Amino acid sequence: MTTTTETHILSVHDQAVDTIQAMAVQLESARNRWESHRPDAVTTMATTLATQLARLFATGFGRDTKVFKDGDLSLVVHTEAGFVFGMVFFRLDRPDPPKEGDIRLGTPAPVEGRYCMASLMEHTSYCLKPIRSGEPTCTGHDPVIVVLPTLGDWSFHS
Ligand SMILES: [Zn+2]
Repeated sequence: MTTTTETHILSVHDQAVDTIQAMAVQLESARNRWESHRPDAVTTMATTLATQLARLFATGFGRDTKVFKDGDLSLVVHTEAGFVFGMVFFRLDRPDPPKEGDIRLGTPAPVEGRYCMASLMEHTSYCLKPIRSGEPTCTGHDPVIVVLPTLGDWSFHS
């Protein structure tokens, strides 16, 4: 019985290493903040991160792959066969970015957004709707604007 072993050369630029680390921090921060409120979104985030990182090792485009940073939580990948694709982070809810003076809660994350944290029923639940274009997307109460880790998912783009 013959066993063949081959090597896949994956070159990861310094900044891309930092980006992959930031992806892990984003997922952990989001899990800490959102797990109890939006478990499905956290699961999607974890699943897409694992799936897309695994894709970096796909050999269908050759065994020599180069990975570069392409945004806070996104990568661009150049394959031996000349194929270029992106592993791109999309923010769920599309909240506004933090502003100077905003209240920060929870674990800091590389990508954060503004949300309403008004208490809805005697502190047993919170609004947690995004603020977009400077306007709350909730109604019926005074918004309490805070900065939270942004949920999202990663997808493949060629
Ligand atoms: Zn609200």
